[in-house]
Amino acid sequence: MHALTLEEAIDRLPLNRLARRLAISGEIPDRDGKTVRCFFPDRHAHGDRNPSFNFHDRLTRFKCHGCGLHGRGPDLVALVLGIEPKEAVRRFVEMAGGPRPESLPLATKTRELVLPADLHSGTEAEIFTLASLRHLSPHALALASGMGILRFGTVHGFRCWIITDESRRIAEARRMDGKPFPVSGSLGERKAHTLAGSDKSWPVGLHPRSRRPERFRRIAIVEGSADLLAAFHFLIKYEAWDTLPVAILGRSCKTLHPEALRSFRGRRIRLFPHADEDGGGLAAAKQWVALIPRGGSVRPDAFNFAGLTRSDGTAINDLNDCTNIHETDQPALAGLFHYGKSNNPV
Ligand SMILES: [Zn+2]
Repeated sequence: MHALTLEEAIDRLPLNRLARRLAISGEIPDRDGKTVRCFFPDRHAHGDRNPSFNFHDRLTRFKCHGCGLHGRGPDLVALVLGIEPKEAVRRFVEMAGGPRPESLPLATKTRELVLPADLHSGTEAEIFTLASLRHLSPHALALASGMGILRFGTVHGFRCWIITDESRRIAEARRMDGKPFPVSGSLGERKAHTLAGSDKSWPVGLHPRSRRPERFRRIAIVEGSADLLAAFHFLIKYEAWDTLPVAILGRSCKTLHPEALRSFRGRRIRLFPHADEDGGGLAAAKQWVALIPRGGSVRPDAFNFAGLTRSDGTAINDLNDCTNIHETDQPALAGLFHYGKSNNPV
């Protein structure tokens, strides 16, 4: 593949498209000279109420006349992701379609992920609405939003919460009113809608904003976006700060992205398979574990939900159900992220 130069990458990836892919919240101008609120309102005493930020030079440069920030695409990447300038240039060129890390099969990504135009990190009202809908701590949702994992936006005309990460390899939406998406085209009624261009082999959450996966000692692999939010809920509750929760979206996923497998190397890994009657959750977890190279690290294990009950007396099936656990079973959850004394090898 032809290696892109930085100048070519800057021509190829205009700032409005870059800003959308970085999930900037607030208005993103689509032409030079249109002034909007600064992308970095924290740098302003009153959140840049009188807009002072714009693009110029054919959408290749930005400048804020309030706080003085200015630069080109890689500078925006560095500011938003909080990474070093050199790394930001590499990431920017990659986002513009330049060379991907070697040994990554080209076929793994053929279509660009299509994200809603109004993708944003969530207002306080949205965070609280979702927290009450799903019985989750608003602090947990704010953390997931701050890490770039939880987003909000409009999908198929519905207001949705969206799970994605900085890799922009996959995104899944669920409706804010808790209802399923209606039948459309070849798609049947479904609780969760996977956005076009998604690569299901990528465990969503593995590429958080501003902190590399290598900085976490432990990884918690859950199934589905509802369990991912529940994982954030419990890692706040049990202060498991060295644990990075990720979700595999879809039990039928038979492969894991090679870059994900590399990120798992040397980490302690625990899975949280659904305890469904047909045993499908555990079977899927076993398949995923078989793909993870062992290479000296400790064998992954699994948390076992069997035998736990909800406050209404029905059986707990997954991590999401645990947010309504019966108080007599509450102590069992203290072991959720205690990787040392486990549970079940898988
Ligand atoms: Zn500014």
